[in-house]
Amino acid sequence: MNFDLSSEQLAVRNAAVRFAEKEIYPKVAEQERNCTFPKETIQKMGSLGFFGAAFPEEFGGTGSGYLCHAILCEEISRAHSSLRTPFNLQAMTCPATLLQWGTPAQKEKYVKKLVSAEWMGLFAITEPDVGSDVAGIKTVAIKKGGRYILNGQKTWISNATVFDAGLVFAKTNPKERHRGISCFLIEKGMKGLSAREIADKLGHRCSPTGTLFLEDVEVPEENRVGPENEGFKVAMTALDRGRLSVAAGAVGVAQACVDAAVRYAREREQFGQLIGTYQMVQQKIAEMRAGVEAARLLLYQCGFLKDQGRRDTLESSIAKYFASQVAVAAANDAVEIYGGNGYSEEYPVSRLLRDAKLYQIGEGASNIMRQLIALDALGWKKANG
Ligand SMILES: Cc1cc2nc3c(=O)[nH]c(=O)nc-3n(C[C@H](O)[C@H](O)[C@H](O)COP(=O)(O)OP(=O)(O)OC[C@H]3O[C@@H](n4cnc5c(N)ncnc54)[C@H](O)[C@@H]3O)c2cc1C
Repeated sequence: MNFDLSSEQLAVRNAAVRFAEKEIYPKVAEQERNCTFPKETIQKMGSLGFFGAAFPEEFGGTGSGYLCHAILCEEISRAHSSLRTPFNLQAMTCPATLLQWGTPAQKEKYVKKLVSAEWMGLFAITEPDVGSDVAGIKTVAIKKGGRYILNGQKTWISNATVFDAGLVFAKTNPKERHRGISCFLIEKGMKGLSAREIADKLGHRCSPTGTLFLEDVEVPEENRVGPENEGFKVAMTALDRGRLSVAAGAVGVAQACVDAAVRYAREREQFGQLIGTYQMVQQKIAEMRAGVEAARLLLYQCGFLKDQGRRDTLESSIAKYFASQVAVAAANDAVEIYGGNGYSEEYPVSRLLRDAKLYQIGEGASNIMRQLIALDALGWKKANG
């Protein structure tokens, strides 16, 4: 077993670190204050191939693999977690799903544009009444001639107000649950499609989220992605990949908490000593660091398995679950180490605490991950099939 990163993986990490130093850190505080959507930065990352690690060259990728994707995502999230979202929408959930399930024409039209971030992507499952219970979605797609008519509402959808093209899931057989869902490609400007931003959210303030309204949206049959009524499978394969980015984002946030805590503990004095000399502060730093190292190993294991073409539903769920717990605990501890200053926007740790929480919710809430992991352990439902 070799735990060393290859020279290519190290080069990818360095590229992300350099990009973050030049393009992200100098702007993060102001963008956070103004809830700015940094589209230009995302497009720069796209043109540098940051979203294309797991894509072949013919589709605008670099072919460097899933582990490289995880490394890039981790380093960018370490600088600004809002910039983790495009690692799903411009890579793992939207275009990679098209690459797996799409027709040649769909791949040709959309994948390159999404991976380069020329077009902003979207991936819409969640609805006002349905989150974890994906098979219970209520949006319908009724077939009429050569098209489907979509009606319903999607909420908590990243990029809902800024997307150019993306995937939406709807019931083609409303009487069925898992076996009644299909996946469709939608584009900005389709008649009957509108969106409203969800403002004032806890964290990820520079990653727009919104509600998508579908009122008699006509989608041509050639925009269906994958076979009719097999959209649940399409969604699950997308979430398997999405969990890699989410775990990477959580590791990045947790590492940023260690960075910030160490910096402060080496500067701040109380009772005539650096606070880093107190054992109780050291204990927190040690726990944070051990958590990040363990979460990173789980993450890289998933990148490795995906690069081998092996199914990793169990491993990616464990990585996502564990890394998100570590990120929230580390952010909590980092704020505590900063004391009153941790409560201020002058330092990064309040943002880290806000952003960390999302990782326990999106791409399968922690309880859903616990359930999947436990059912596999009990032998009642093997996660990897
Ligand atoms: C910032 C942000 C961005 C998002 N972006 C997207 C996006 O781009 N696309 C998209 O489709 N969705 C997106 N989501 C939605 C996200 O995927 C859902 O919030 C998540 O799946 C949980 O669903 P829910 O919020 O409806 O919670 P619910 O499913 O209602 O769950 C509420 C609580 O009940 C628990 N629970 C539910 N079922 C069970 C069970 N069987 N056993 C035990 N506990 C259970 C959950 O763990 C949770 O604690 C986003 C959410 C946020 C906050």
